[in-house]
Amino acid sequence: CGIVGYVGGQPALDVVIAGLKRLEYRGYDSAGVAVQTESDGSLAVDKRAGKLANLEKSLADSPLPGGATGIGHTRWATHGGPTDANAHPHLDDAGRVAVVHNGIIENFAALRAEIAERGHQLRSETDTEVVAHLLAEEYEGDLAEAMRRVCRRLDGAFTLVAVHADAPGVVVGARRNSPLVVGRGEGENFLASDVAAFIAHTREAVELGQDQVVELRADSVTVTDFDGAPAEIREYHVDWDASA
Ligand code: GLU
Repeated sequence: CGIVGYVGGQPALDVVIAGLKRLEYRGYDSAGVAVQTESDGSLAVDKRAGKLANLEKSLADSPLPGGATGIGHTRWATHGGPTDANAHPHLDDAGRVAVVHNGIIENFAALRAEIAERGHQLRSETDTEVVAHLLAEEYEGDLAEAMRRVCRRLDGAFTLVAVHADAPGVVVGARRNSPLVVGRGEGENFLASDVAAFIAHTREAVELGQDQVVELRADSVTVTDFDGAPAEIREYHVDWDASA
């Protein structure tokens, strides 16, 4: 339902939670975050059914190690009930990839069967989890390329945002039939399903087109189509009143 990604110099968790709050008006049943830890890039994840306040309470009780790269999600369940296990982010078996997703992956049943057959452990009932396992399989050092390969195998409507423990300071996003916007900052960049999530930080936005993948680093934004060809992007300035 709501997606936020961040890479830059601020504590990612604070930026992501604040962004998710700006998207709360859309309604949701669960919330979760993943941050890359500063020391080794490994992913720290917390996700809870219920309101963001539940997640915040859990984070207050057992804080995550801080890092400057992170993603977050508020979920509106379509496949699998609103439980902690079904909340996003979803992880691969090794916990090295985390992914959040808006929309529906129509061919998820076939992909789940395929993934289970290859020995992966499915831990949720969502259509989303397959993407975490597929990204782990396809990753060969370039997360954007892994995302492109995975997207070519997906049917349906999706916005996907992912981080990988082996790709410090990188957030990757993709979209088909579901919105995804980049917010460009100074030494930091944002990804969100809606500009409301980042206008407190920047009003320089890039709207992703259909079937595009974006790689975000603190100092760069690279957009391609699903085949890896450089893509046309639409940059604009968000000038509506943030407080409205
Ligand atoms: N289909 C996914 C799920 O049920 C994503 C739902 C959403 O857009 O929040 O987990």
